[in-house]
Amino acid sequence: MGLRGVVVVALAAWAGWLLFRGVVRKKVPWVGLAIIALPLVVFGYTERQWVSAEKEFSSVAKTVEPVAPGVHCQRLGESFTYAGAELGHVEFDENGLPTGPAWLSYETCQNLAAYWRSSAAQKTGPPIEQVIAVHVLSHESYHLAGIGTESLAECDAMQRDARTAQVLGASQLQGLQLANTYWQSVYPDMPSDYTTRDCVSGGRLDKTPGDNLWP
Ligand SMILES: [Zn+2]
Repeated sequence: MGLRGVVVVALAAWAGWLLFRGVVRKKVPWVGLAIIALPLVVFGYTERQWVSAEKEFSSVAKTVEPVAPGVHCQRLGESFTYAGAELGHVEFDENGLPTGPAWLSYETCQNLAAYWRSSAAQKTGPPIEQVIAVHVLSHESYHLAGIGTESLAECDAMQRDARTAQVLGASQLQGLQLANTYWQSVYPDMPSDYTTRDCVSGGRLDKTPGDNLWP
């Protein structure tokens, strides 16, 4: 249970205690109860939004690997105690098998959710943060499918980004443009262990060589 869950349980317990005491004393503090109820409703609502986003992102990951364990979105409360800069990762056990779920940073999930919930028109030329978030979901999906090498996951993911975008509501053209934006604007600046010369149109890692479709 995250910080949000602890707060919700504490507030609910507090409200229950006030109500119980009020009934016993025959004087229920309705104003105080209403003040407690407000954050309960807000926390409950945002938590529900996150759970539905996680479900959606997990179903996207499962289009790559049907038995993938899904996706966990870091909550705001968790991000306060997290000093790292990672956008997402998947843990691997000693046998080199992925142990899920894939972890996505609060920021990545926010950008992904913003992309997913954006209108059809907004999916033309989305902000670069959203392009990267869509790609991170593709990338972690390949880790969940068992690919541990960063440059391989990265190259597979880039060729998957158009499809990932489409599952999240983009048209085919918008999906292809998003993948191309990543290839042009983000991939060249990735650390060297994330890139390889084989990851080019017609290269060893091109899944559809000879079709001139890249990425
Ligand atoms: Zn990775």
